[in-house]
Amino acid sequence: MRLSQFFLPTLKETPSEAQIASHRLMLRAGMVRQLTAGIYSWLPLGHRVLKKIEQIVREEQDKIGFNELLMPTIQPAELWQESGRYDDYGLEMLRITDRHDRKMLFGPTNEEAITDIFRNDVRSYKQLPQMLYHIQWKFRDEIRPRFGVMRGREFLMKDAYSFDIDYESARHTYNKIFLAYCRTFTRLGVKAIPMVADTGPIGGDLSHEFIILAETGESEVFCDQKWLEKDLSGQGVDLNDRTGLESWVQTTLKDYAATEDMHDPEQDAVKSLGNDLVTTRGIEVGHIFHFGAKYSEPMGATVLGPDGKDTPVQMGSYGIGVSRLVGALIEASHDENGIIWPDAVAPYKVGLINLRTGDDACDAACEDAYAKLTNAGIEVLYDDRDMRAGGKFADMDLIGLPWQIVIGPKGLKNGVVELKNRRSGEKTEVTFDAALNQLS
Ligand code: ATP
Ligand code: MG
Ligand code: MG
Ligand code: MG
Repeated sequence: MRLSQFFLPTLKETPSEAQIASHRLMLRAGMVRQLTAGIYSWLPLGHRVLKKIEQIVREEQDKIGFNELLMPTIQPAELWQESGRYDDYGLEMLRITDRHDRKMLFGPTNEEAITDIFRNDVRSYKQLPQMLYHIQWKFRDEIRPRFGVMRGREFLMKDAYSFDIDYESARHTYNKIFLAYCRTFTRLGVKAIPMVADTGPIGGDLSHEFIILAETGESEVFCDQKWLEKDLSGQGVDLNDRTGLESWVQTTLKDYAATEDMHDPEQDAVKSLGNDLVTTRGIEVGHIFHFGAKYSEPMGATVLGPDGKDTPVQMGSYGIGVSRLVGALIEASHDENGIIWPDAVAPYKVGLINLRTGDDACDAACEDAYAKLTNAGIEVLYDDRDMRAGGKFADMDLIGLPWQIVIGPKGLKNGVVELKNRRSGEKTEVTFDAALNQLS
């Protein structure tokens, strides 16, 4: 992509409404613009990152056998009256009336909708488990939308749902999702720590929030410092080995980690930690939950069991805040000059800077470099704009692409370009071919 043809409205000034780094940087880097409180447009640069995160999330869901579908954003109130949540959900639910005076709502989540799909078409335990997910916009009328896309009112969520015949198999499904979440966040280049979460009135021990540690996070969290070094890549774990997977999950979870709701300083596990207890703040980027028959019972989602009796299915739901992750990844990775994207989600891998647009030799060398990078399948953003080098450097650092190749008249005389690593700041003078080689 040529920057002269790319819509990238970067800002020099720090927007006054932004309180935290990720929000400031997303506005300054021209990634998003607010349409109204908590509702954002995703401009091309932000949209590319959003799509990359979405794709990694999707691939890891697919790998554990979940099926993607797409449910609507608008739902009928009746479904929520059936589950009993229409009144309980309160003011966070945006309620709408259509022209026929029917009550509708903009979905804040999809348990009811998916349960309806399931009950209409699945009849027998032989068709279980069913594991479904979608990646769809949600609306929650948050009382205090803030921090940009981190607490929006409209936001993109991956929400998955599972249906099993009994607790044992539901637990296996839960473990699969747990593994997929560990793999997803590792691939995204960030550490998200699974912490025991409150299961509310339903009880049980099967709920975890995945939390990225950050001073600007909204919840206070407590964990054993061992988590900071822990490998959560889930390499080599066999999905189909029930006991093996269960024991991997248990081993992974053995060190203390809890959000403020669940933290208990009087617990032995906490007391024995002493100075190894890390107290900080965190951002909730994922939440997994087993809730048994909470929706299947009132909504009549039953199957014929092996004993010939109708049994309500055991359900779970599992969310990832896809749009929140864009902000969370920036909170976890930036410096005073801008964003530093992890490779896997970078909007482009390389920024190519023409130090003197209009100079025949520079233009020709950049065109050649641009063509070669593109042909090598490397995503490149070519700054071909006719402006001063200082502004180009600042913009490139701000948008945080992992690599920069700088081509100018001086280097060209010596047959070299400058290759800069955005994260380390390290700059080397190499031939273009050597740079291409290193990036391929
Ligand atoms: P929070 O505690 O931040 O309000 P939640 O517990 O209400 O989140 P869940 O119902 O667990 O959220 O939804 C699953 C995921 O969706 C969350 O883990 C989070 O990553 C994301 N999410 C929830 N609310 C928002 C929001 N207002 N803006 C952006 N992402 C959100
Ligand atoms: Mg909430
Ligand atoms: Mg929460
Ligand atoms: Mg939650």
